[in-house]
Amino acid sequence: MIEPFFWWTDEQKEVAKKVSQFVEDNFEEAEEYFWNSKFPWPLVRKVADEGYFGVGVPREYGGMGLGATGSCIVAEQLGRLYAVGHVFTVSMLAGTEQILRFGTEKQKEKWLHKIAKGNELGALCITEPFAGSDAANIFTTAEKDGDEWVINGKKRFITGAGVSDRYFIYAKTNEDPSIRKQYGHLTSFMVEKGRPGFTLEKINPLIGFDNVPNGYIDFENVRIPDENRIGTVGKGWNVMMAGLNFERLIGATVFGGLFEDIVSLLFYYTKRRVQFNRATIQFPGIQNEIADIITKAKLARLFSYHCAKLLDDGKEPMIEASIAKMVNTEFVREVGIKAIQVLGGDGLTRFLPVERILRESKIGEIAAGTTEVQKMIIYRFSSMLPMYNKHIRLRWNDEVNAPIISKRESKFKGLDVNEENILKVIAHDYKVNPGIYMTIDDIKEDIGGSRSTIGKILESLEKQKLVVSHRDRSGKMVLVKATYLGLKKAFPKEYYQWFPEWYDDSDKF
Ligand SMILES: Cc1cc2nc3c(=O)[nH]c(=O)nc-3n(C[C@H](O)[C@H](O)[C@H](O)COP(=O)(O)OP(=O)(O)OC[C@H]3O[C@@H](n4cnc5c(N)ncnc54)[C@H](O)[C@@H]3O)c2cc1C
Repeated sequence: MIEPFFWWTDEQKEVAKKVSQFVEDNFEEAEEYFWNSKFPWPLVRKVADEGYFGVGVPREYGGMGLGATGSCIVAEQLGRLYAVGHVFTVSMLAGTEQILRFGTEKQKEKWLHKIAKGNELGALCITEPFAGSDAANIFTTAEKDGDEWVINGKKRFITGAGVSDRYFIYAKTNEDPSIRKQYGHLTSFMVEKGRPGFTLEKINPLIGFDNVPNGYIDFENVRIPDENRIGTVGKGWNVMMAGLNFERLIGATVFGGLFEDIVSLLFYYTKRRVQFNRATIQFPGIQNEIADIITKAKLARLFSYHCAKLLDDGKEPMIEASIAKMVNTEFVREVGIKAIQVLGGDGLTRFLPVERILRESKIGEIAAGTTEVQKMIIYRFSSMLPMYNKHIRLRWNDEVNAPIISKRESKFKGLDVNEENILKVIAHDYKVNPGIYMTIDDIKEDIGGSRSTIGKILESLEKQKLVVSHRDRSGKMVLVKATYLGLKKAFPKEYYQWFPEWYDDSDKF
């Protein structure tokens, strides 16, 4: 049973009910394919018949038009059917968003209908032996020859390799290092199975992907028409980036439905397992673990659908998509480990689905960008946000005799901008912020004057060993701090002393 959020549309709520029932009805069959290590073709066809592959495809191209939120709802549920969820996910990711944003009308007509129908699976092909986290380092080339492109190279770790009919790939179309620097070296293409020279190289035996095909593909002089090029030549990086937020979000939610199954299993099992003459669910430690799992499940889910709403509202939730990906996949791993502990030895057997969920969760932390890469994105993009870059200044407040965050003007404002006063500003800052340096702009804010005048004075103070500086790679002074000699020259010792009121005078020296 899927718990809807209040902002979902009636259609999204309806599809949630239907897909949840679909999963309940087909759960056993999915388990059988898992146990037999067989790709669940008949189940995949049932998913296609229900029209779920088109959940995010607009109606005019044969889809349901339920956006990122609808795609998450379906991915969350189908993820409970293991291999089905993973191929559903990549098939949708292999072109939907990219073609919608960068395809011509003709390409939309051609490919989006196919994606929506789901009778042909798709694979998304970025990764290569040389290009993992560094996704721009693609070695596969595409060379123009008349009206065709000739592709040579390899892709690896491709989910749906072999079983898919269409492969959304990125290839290098320019070798010029200056173009490479601006990420203008890549172009995206759709390559169909069956083209001469396009072969399957290897299927990976992967932890956690027991009956999900994932492998290497090889291109040897594979010819495709120019109409299979998606987006402008040299704009492949933009196409890749445009698809990534959606990809990360779906890569997160496909694990979301597993939480619900774990919790249900834990309640079922611990009510029936008796130790020390009590059902294990009665042990407070077990209850705490279950509470922790439910908390994680609800937090991860809330964040995923928040991110989906941002996407549906036309935003580019780079930070949120990375957080959703990281939180969901880390939580599934943590929850898997906790659940096994709650179940004891039975949790380690293949007979209960928890050990599988735990193995699968590790994939989530690597595929579609590792957790470390998500953290890089979260950090880099957040560091540019105005909300995290508020101007904070601690200033000495004589009334409370302490440094406090203040918007007041500095007491040095308006003094002559000379060596003596600049040194005083910097030395005073030691009293307020003993551990940190000042920027040139901090000094300018405190005393006034121009950056260049302040810069010259600081160079001179540094030569006299009254301040030390921290410089950037080009040698430009960016931070300064008074030396002990500078502090001594600016103010008497007593200026820097400070003791709490309770501190006994007799202990001061
Ligand atoms: C099951 C599975 C399914 C996949 N499906 C697909 C698919 O369908 N299509 C596709 O194109 N790819 C797919 N991938 C590939 C996946 O996207 C890559 O594995 C992933 O991006 C990491 O690349 P890598 O494995 O080469 O690791 P590497 O990039 O070699 O990373 C190794 C380690 O170094 C760390 N690292 C790398 N760079 C940095 C850095 N700058 N700072 C800090 N740490 C760093 C990583 O976080 C990681 O811990 C799949 C992978 C798996 C395992």
